[in-house]
Amino acid sequence: MNQSASTGSAPVYLDHTATTPLAPGVFEAMAPYFTEKWLSPSGLYRGGRGMKRELDDARRRVAAVLGSEPAEIVFTSSGTESVNLAVRGVALASQHRGRHIVTTQIEHRAVIDTAKHLEKQGWRVTYLPVDEHGLVDGDSLDAAISDDTVLVSIMLANNEVGTVQPVRELARRVKARRPTVAFHTDAVAAGFLPLDAGALGVDLLSLSSHKVGGPKGAGLLWARRGVLLQSLLTGDDRERGRRSGQEDVPAIMGMTRALELALPTHAERANAVADLTARLITGICDGVPGAQLTGHPTDRLPHIASFCFERVDGEALLQALDVQGILAASGSACSSATLEPSHVLKAMGVPTALAEGNLRLSLGVENTEAEVARVLDVLPRVVERLRALRR
Ligand SMILES: *Cc1c(COP(=O)(O)O)cnc(C)c1O
Repeated sequence: MNQSASTGSAPVYLDHTATTPLAPGVFEAMAPYFTEKWLSPSGLYRGGRGMKRELDDARRRVAAVLGSEPAEIVFTSSGTESVNLAVRGVALASQHRGRHIVTTQIEHRAVIDTAKHLEKQGWRVTYLPVDEHGLVDGDSLDAAISDDTVLVSIMLANNEVGTVQPVRELARRVKARRPTVAFHTDAVAAGFLPLDAGALGVDLLSLSSHKVGGPKGAGLLWARRGVLLQSLLTGDDRERGRRSGQEDVPAIMGMTRALELALPTHAERANAVADLTARLITGICDGVPGAQLTGHPTDRLPHIASFCFERVDGEALLQALDVQGILAASGSACSSATLEPSHVLKAMGVPTALAEGNLRLSLGVENTEAEVARVLDVLPRVVERLRALRR
C-alpha cells in the first residue's frame, strides 16, 4: 500500500471478491467480546449462561435476516468450512443411499477441491459444463441426476465473472426428478442479492462474514431442518452436533452485525454499486482497444466487472496497477503468489492466451465516482504501455 503514497492519494481498492473492509459499527459490535465478555458460552455459571444467551440471540438475528429458523444456522470459521461441511457433511451422511455428487466446472475451489477429494475416496462426481456466459444448462443437470445422486452443489453467483445462476429453477428441476437429493448453493459471493434461504428452494446455503463487511474468522451454513449432515470436526456436541469446537464469539458477533446491515439493504446497496460498475464497464470497453467483458450480459452481480485483454499479461497488469495505487485481481488466486489462468474462464471457453490477460475489478459500497474516474484514466495507458513492451 505504501507504493500509492508516491501517487499522493489513498489506494483504490477494487478486490471486494477477495475480502471487504469492516462495515461501520461492526468493529464496535465485536469489541466487548474481546475484553469483558470473554467467558465460554458452555460455562455452567451465570456468566457462561449469559454468553450462551448472547450466542443464541445472534443465531436468532442471523436466522431472521435469512428468513430461516435459528436451529438451521451452523456457525463455522469461514465460507470454506461452510462449503466443506455442506458437501462433505452431506456426502458422508448419505453414503448409504448413494455416492454421486453433481456440481459445476465454475465453482469456487472450496467446492471443487472438496469434490475432487471425495472422488479419490470413491465418490462419483459430475462437473457440469457452462455456456460462454457462465450459465449452467438445466437439461444437462436433469440428465446428470441418477439413482445414486445424493447432492447437487451449484453456486448462486460466480465470484470471478459475476454470472448469477437461476438457482431456484435448478433446485426445482432437481427436486422434481429426485426429491431426496440435497441441493447446496455457495452464496458467499452473493451478498448483493436477495438471500431468502427458504424461498430459493435449496436445502443448504453457505455464507462468509468477510465478504459482506464482517470480520475474517466466521462463516455460516444454513441447513434446512431434516437435512442429513455429518460433522467434520469431532470433540463435542456444539452447533447441535454439526460442528465441534469453541465458538469464535467476537467473529460471530461481527458477522451477525454485518449480515444485519447488508442483507436487508441489498437492493439499495446493489443499485449504488451497479451504477459505478456500469461506468467502469462502459469506460473500459470504450477506452481499451479489444477489451472483452466476461460473464452474462444481464444476469450478473452488480459489483463485478471482469475483462479479458488481448496481448496483456494479467500478473504484469496487476503489478502496474498496484504501482498506480489500484488494487485489483486476475485469474484464480492460489495460496501461492502465482496466478493460474482461471478455471472459470476456461470452462466458459475463453482461450488460454486471452484468459491470461484477465482483469477483475470488484466494487464495494465505499467506492466513489472519483475512484472510478481514476481507473478509467490510468488503465488504458497502462494496457497500452504493457502492449508496447511486448512487441
Ligand atoms: C471467498 C469465497 C469462498 C471462501 O470463503 P472464505 O470465507 O474466504 O473461506 C467460497 N466461495 C466463494 C464463491 C467465495 O467467493
